Amino acid sequence: MPRRVAVVGAGIVGLSTAWFLQAHGVHVTVIERRHVAAGSSWGNAGWLTPALTAPLPDPAVLSYGVRALLSPSSPVYVPLRADARLLRFLLGFTRHSTARRWGVGMRAYAPVNRIALDAFDELTAGGVQAGTRPAEPFLACYRTPQERDALVRTLRDIETAGQDVKFDVLSGEEARSLEPSLSPATTTAVRLHGQRFIDPPAYLRSLADAVHDRDGDVIEGVSVTRVTETSDGVVVHDGEGQERRFDAVVLANGAWLGDLARPFGVRQPVQAGRGYSFSVPCEHLPRGPLYFPGQRVACTPVAAPGGPRLRVAGMMELRPPDAALDRRRIEAIAAAARPVLQGVDLDDRHEEWVGSRPCTPDGLPLIGATRSPKVFTAGGHGMWGVALGPVTGKLLAERIVTGVTPTALTPFDPLR
Ligand SMILES: Cc1cc2nc3c(=O)[nH]c(=O)nc-3n(C[C@H](O)[C@H](O)[C@H](O)COP(=O)(O)OP(=O)(O)OC[C@H]3O[C@@H](n4cnc5c(N)ncnc54)[C@H](O)[C@@H]3O)c2cc1C
Repeated sequence: MPRRVAVVGAGIVGLSTAWFLQAHGVHVTVIERRHVAAGSSWGNAGWLTPALTAPLPDPAVLSYGVRALLSPSSPVYVPLRADARLLRFLLGFTRHSTARRWGVGMRAYAPVNRIALDAFDELTAGGVQAGTRPAEPFLACYRTPQERDALVRTLRDIETAGQDVKFDVLSGEEARSLEPSLSPATTTAVRLHGQRFIDPPAYLRSLADAVHDRDGDVIEGVSVTRVTETSDGVVVHDGEGQERRFDAVVLANGAWLGDLARPFGVRQPVQAGRGYSFSVPCEHLPRGPLYFPGQRVACTPVAAPGGPRLRVAGMMELRPPDAALDRRRIEAIAAAARPVLQGVDLDDRHEEWVGSRPCTPDGLPLIGATRSPKVFTAGGHGMWGVALGPVTGKLLAERIVTGVTPTALTPFDPLR
């Protein structure tokens, strides 16, 4: 059993892995190139919605994506001149966008989805102060029954894959009586039960504090450039030429994971699926998340410096993770949200943000040992790294300390 483990990346996945390793008595050092939650774990929608946690490649997403490419205000952006890495990702994504492969992926997700919220409860019981909140209600809102039925079919498919999903179908009026900030454009909705959400910045800060309080080191402002294996452990090299020695290392650096993991046999490309968000004031702050699938917009109430606001998020932009924020994407999300919300000032935007979902071509994360038994990956969760971060950390910590791969992790083998 390794006694000293480095974790690269202080996002939800890295910090959760560090926390669960500590539960096994391992000393952890988290090394983060910027600051806690500098990546995708900051401005996301914070939904803990196992009922929706499914592989991204699916026939409907593919055909929507292809149609959306032709529209300038589209919520999907793919550069016309794709580089070799992006091309590999797109080809793999296309190959996996079949109903059969989606079903295989969903059956891989179901066992971890079933215990995803329990892992958050363990963090809370173990002292992570910022808890989770019940998503009461969680509403997916639609203009037409046809659009709504696409989600109902997906939920049934998720049930078929072995996951319990509870929901009701509501009229527009019923949905508005629950959340008055819905405009009359919503004529029908799906209310999901048993889901939760977090305020991501507060949660991540609290998780980092908990790792620190349990005697872990969280080093910020240090970029890991390379990992090498030695006879008795690993050496983690940083941008300033410093070398740190550990018994093992977990690569949890989100959309940047590919470069560090490739020398250890991880061939799956990790592509940044960049999303944007901002917060706005509302007359009636929603109590829970609002999802507008037709507009590709996700909303969540969050704490903000001047008081609570509504976080509005969306967009899937396939560009490098360090590219600059593109204001046109923010405008496109605001324009998409305008007709479906009321009493919300979409022009008074604060905290405009871009972050990179770490996406894999088959839509499954990369969790486990690499070609080196001392180098592990934890990442590639795409749309669902927040909901699955703690369960990932729990199962991977078990793998690292026992040497036995939990069955639920088998489909996520990083060497697949
Ligand atoms: C708009 C939007 C909405 C989303 N909504 C949800 C949601 O509601 N629910 C959900 O479950 N998921 C959601 N997601 C997805 C989720 O945010 C990600 O899957 C998740 O945050 C990934 O976590 P991570 O820890 O793997 O990566 P990150 O949070 O990106 O963390 C990686 C960290 O590694 C650091 N790093 C990178 N390279 C190095 C290096 N070389 N050395 C040291 N440190 C390094 C980075 O600075 C970063 O802090 C959303 C994403 C977006 C963009």
